[in-house]
Amino acid sequence: MKNRPVLVYADADGNIIDWPALEMAGSSAGTYRRPRHDELIPLPEGSELFLLPDRLPVGFNRDGNDFQVLSSDPYDPSKPVRAVAAFIAPAHTQLYSAAYKSLPGAPLLPLFAYTAVGWLNGKFVTTGVRIDADRRQDFRNFDLHKIEQNARRRMQRERKNRLVQHLGKCALTYGCPAAKNLFMDRWEAPLPTSPVCNARCLGCISFQERKDLPATQDRITFVPTPDEICAVAVPHLEKARRAVVSFGQGCEGEPLLQAETLEASIAAMRRATARGTINLNSNGSLPDKVERLCRAGLNSIRVSMNSARPEFYAKYFRPRGYGFEDARRSILAVKASGGFASINYFILPGFSDTRGEWEALRRLVAETGLDLIQMRNLNIDPEWYLSMMGTGADREVIGVLELISRLKNEFPDLRLGYFNPALQSP
Ligand code: SF4
Repeated sequence: MKNRPVLVYADADGNIIDWPALEMAGSSAGTYRRPRHDELIPLPEGSELFLLPDRLPVGFNRDGNDFQVLSSDPYDPSKPVRAVAAFIAPAHTQLYSAAYKSLPGAPLLPLFAYTAVGWLNGKFVTTGVRIDADRRQDFRNFDLHKIEQNARRRMQRERKNRLVQHLGKCALTYGCPAAKNLFMDRWEAPLPTSPVCNARCLGCISFQERKDLPATQDRITFVPTPDEICAVAVPHLEKARRAVVSFGQGCEGEPLLQAETLEASIAAMRRATARGTINLNSNGSLPDKVERLCRAGLNSIRVSMNSARPEFYAKYFRPRGYGFEDARRSILAVKASGGFASINYFILPGFSDTRGEWEALRRLVAETGLDLIQMRNLNIDPEWYLSMMGTGADREVIGVLELISRLKNEFPDLRLGYFNPALQSP
């Protein structure tokens, strides 16, 4: 098994152990795969390992040339085992999900991405690719002590600004990388504004209807005033390195539902400074509002999409009063105003890299003149998601690496990444 990664599993005490009798396997929407060497990378710093409840590890058995379920601890067959998955660090796109077999009644997995992980030459490996060279969310760049000092000092200094208090909690309690960068006066800073949303995404991290699926962040409960917003945004735009301020964060609903507040804030920011990038992360539901924000000074938009196929978009976003076409028109609106447009494209191996999805995605890129695809990992229980999508027979998988190379070949000017770019040089 020289130079092939081997399976890892968790024993009854939660220790993660390698089992050399089986090779590491991956899953492509439930179909088990043997990762190729060019699909393996060392587990990136800042990644986490998850033990999957009531899920048995699956590995590849070279002797039998088949995939095998590890149903008990090979070192103590009386003991149970659990599958292990990696939650890989930002800036990396997953190529295979973790390979496991769910036991009957297995609980729903929380809202994270579950990527394949194995052991090779003394270290953990995963199936991924670094899709963005930008180091703004690299684990080693966060001096937590300094961030805490800066955040507490600013929260004290601006104790009447509700948004500063909210972002202080985001940085110190939730560990939000964007909020942490705000308090380090660098890169991309968050501007959450909306307690409400006009979609009901299956994987929404700020609001969940299912009792067995906790939202990972509390949603903001107030709409900050343009003054509160500008007190956060203007100093950042004026002095941060590669400054970006972004409406539309994980801790809120849909910012376009606060368009008047955004329009007034953006206009005030641009009266104060021409420096930096003003960005909107959104579900793109209200293209007319987007046009108004562009006139006020919005520079870029990132529209979230689980699929470029309207039927799967609708099944995931469960939109109220808008549809895929509105999201597409919002991209066109920013392009028509000379702005920068990207999609926040949720990647699930075996779903996002099918022939049908590729055909739809290339049409969307060609029709809209999209500038960037942020290839982010879909944070959801893969089995539940696929059951909700009901993908049926459309399972001709081309592979995530193949999807990336086709995008690069067909659209040489299209950027692939993970983060909202600063559109001005530092
Ligand atoms: S658009 Fe955003 S806030 Fe709204 S339901 Fe979806 S993830 Fe949640």
